[in-house]
Amino acid sequence: MSENYIDSYYTATAIGIGDPKIAVSEYRCDVCVIGAGFTGVSTALHLAESGCDVILLEANRIGWGASGRNGGQLHSGQRKGQQELERLFGRDRAHELWQLAEESKSMVKSRISKHKIDCDYKPGLLHAAYKKSDVKDFEAEVSKLQDDYNYEQVRFVTKQEMSELLGTDIYHGGVLDNGAGHLHPLNYVLGLASVAKRAGVRIFEHSPVTEFSQSEPAKIRTPEANIVADYIVFACNGYLGKLNKRLASRIMPINNFIIATEPLGEEKAAQLIRDDVAVADTKFVVDYFRLSADKRLLFGGGENYSSKFPRNIAAFVKPVMLKVYPQLKDVRIEYAWGGTLAITVNRLPCFGRIKPNILYAQGFSGQGVAMTTLAGKLVAEAVSGESERFEIMASLPSPKFPGGTLLRYPGLVAGMLYYSFRDKL
Ligand SMILES: Cc1cc2nc3c(=O)[nH]c(=O)nc-3n(C[C@H](O)[C@H](O)[C@H](O)COP(=O)(O)OP(=O)(O)OC[C@H]3O[C@@H](n4cnc5c(N)ncnc54)[C@H](O)[C@@H]3O)c2cc1C
Repeated sequence: MSENYIDSYYTATAIGIGDPKIAVSEYRCDVCVIGAGFTGVSTALHLAESGCDVILLEANRIGWGASGRNGGQLHSGQRKGQQELERLFGRDRAHELWQLAEESKSMVKSRISKHKIDCDYKPGLLHAAYKKSDVKDFEAEVSKLQDDYNYEQVRFVTKQEMSELLGTDIYHGGVLDNGAGHLHPLNYVLGLASVAKRAGVRIFEHSPVTEFSQSEPAKIRTPEANIVADYIVFACNGYLGKLNKRLASRIMPINNFIIATEPLGEEKAAQLIRDDVAVADTKFVVDYFRLSADKRLLFGGGENYSSKFPRNIAAFVKPVMLKVYPQLKDVRIEYAWGGTLAITVNRLPCFGRIKPNILYAQGFSGQGVAMTTLAGKLVAEAVSGESERFEIMASLPSPKFPGGTLLRYPGLVAGMLYYSFRDKL
């Protein structure tokens, strides 16, 4: 039952896609969550577990957006390193942000084990220094994490060891993080959604929200249903569109692309990534890759900033992969797909409220696999009146993109193209 999902390796190996149920009536609930990616599903589940009556509305299918299409890399920390966070926000806030991120990661792992979600979780994420000058930063960040954050699961990796681990000698050094890992993202979100259903969440797919009122209670409209809810939670991220101008002005949707090779076999796969860890480099447009459970190389690289994907995504991404692994020249690419994510100006997530009863969490900027699961918990806490931890995230600056929603593209495109051009030099 893979109808209405994009054609991807994840869709082809999805577990538990059910028949969609559409919202077609008048409904009343405590909380209406909009968007069934990681953020929305996790929010709905946490709310249901705390006793709320929840409706989750999804315009397409569960996990249809970035959550069902991404690199599956479960990172530690925030999108910025701890040294930079300390510089920006001071030591105490940086420690709080680290603790929240640690909780996110362990929450993903505990959801997977508690609910037996079959999503191929594997430990280990290797950050790869693309430039020689990145090595110093890596060494300093490892010392910071070990000494000031008591994080012992991370270690520096030399250039020599990088080529033994990765079967390529293009990287100048690395950081191996054994507390991070990788998973099949569509199966994770589908698994989480079935737990949410069992917890009592009413999930409606093919039910796009077209209008909402900023009132108490709020009114929400889809093409065939009207919902009255005490609270609304926006979890639409890069697919928000024009539903709310204020939220849209703080994020920029960008597209990123992934290819999956044919299955390579155990031996060949181990020659590429010896220890089956995920890999992400330091380029501005990050190259990230890992092995799937059936030993394909899943390689993400290349993005664009338009409303359209390249016509031939495989031809767009394969040359990027061949720079890392020229030995894959003759390997068949069996899947190629893209997804849209929301970035913020400072690449930190953007949480907040439009009104006291309308909350949002968005802008996970390429590092949402971990943070979104915790986002759901923080939003649920805030709805229950315990908003202290939600406010830590909401207090992070989330400036508008210059030019607002109308003019943000030309400036962004120029800036992004400049930095991605620097990657190539
Ligand atoms: C190609 C790619 C690779 C990535 N790789 C990684 C990675 O390796 N590691 C990592 O940490 N992060 C990665 N990310 C980012 C990560 O996928 C996102 O941060 C995360 O999935 C965001 O989850 P979300 O639930 O907030 O948004 P989404 O998963 O995008 O979900 C939003 C949902 O809202 C729905 N929606 C929108 N408007 C409406 C409406 N009006 N009514 C109802 N529903 C609506 C959409 O249909 C969509 O399903 C990647 C992203 C992409 C695109």
